[in-house]
Amino acid sequence: MRVLIVYAHPNKNSFNHAILEKMQQGLQAEGHEVQVKDLYAENFDPVLRASDLESLQLGNIPENIAKEQASLCWAEGLVFIYPLWWFGRPAILKGWFDKVLTNGFAFKFGEEGLTGLLKHRRALALITAGGTEDFFKKNKAEPLVYRPMTDGTLSFCGIEDVNHRIYYDIGGMSDRGRQDVLEEVATMGKDFNEK
Ligand code: FAD
Repeated sequence: MRVLIVYAHPNKNSFNHAILEKMQQGLQAEGHEVQVKDLYAENFDPVLRASDLESLQLGNIPENIAKEQASLCWAEGLVFIYPLWWFGRPAILKGWFDKVLTNGFAFKFGEEGLTGLLKHRRALALITAGGTEDFFKKNKAEPLVYRPMTDGTLSFCGIEDVNHRIYYDIGGMSDRGRQDVLEEVATMGKDFNEK
């Protein structure tokens, strides 16, 4: 499969970066073709501006948005890697969706209601959190961590096979625990193989 990894962490020494490396290696080991979109490294501008909206309303896709949509169209599989920031995606990633998933490209509304237009065969979100799993479960907050991404974005746009994995308490975890996480991520390339 052609797999696009969209990565949103500013620090090259972060644990998220280690996850990125393992995921990329794991996918390549299974023979998948991988492109990485490192939003901070690319200095991606996440702000959807009035001029962008004006162009979109006239049916013109601004060049900066068309470029991102071309990357998305290239891929058959998608992986998103990011830390949980204020119960959501880092703003740079949220802004990427604001800009890229335009009406008529990623979804449309017609007489029969909403139609998702993305045809990707599989999508996966890998999310790290500072809080403990216990905290999220006790506060019934777990769905808040992933549903805006899985349901509110990827499934909404028509992708049927949407998956997520949350790694909690990254800072409090033992070194062994973090190695186990990275070993698990390294195996996830297999999940993109033909079923
Ligand atoms: P890092 O801080 O880079 O690393 C975590 C640990 O892993 C460190 O001990 C580091 O030494 C170690 N490590 C790094 N690389 C490796 C490696 N290769 N192998 C083994 N160990 C390694 N959390 C919540 O739960 N809910 C929130 O709403 C929330 N909001 C936040 C908002 C902001 C703005 C910020 C900055 C943080 C927030 N957090 C929140 C916490 C955040 O989710 C975690 O800090 C983040 O997920 C940790 O991932 P990281 O890649 O930044 O880890």
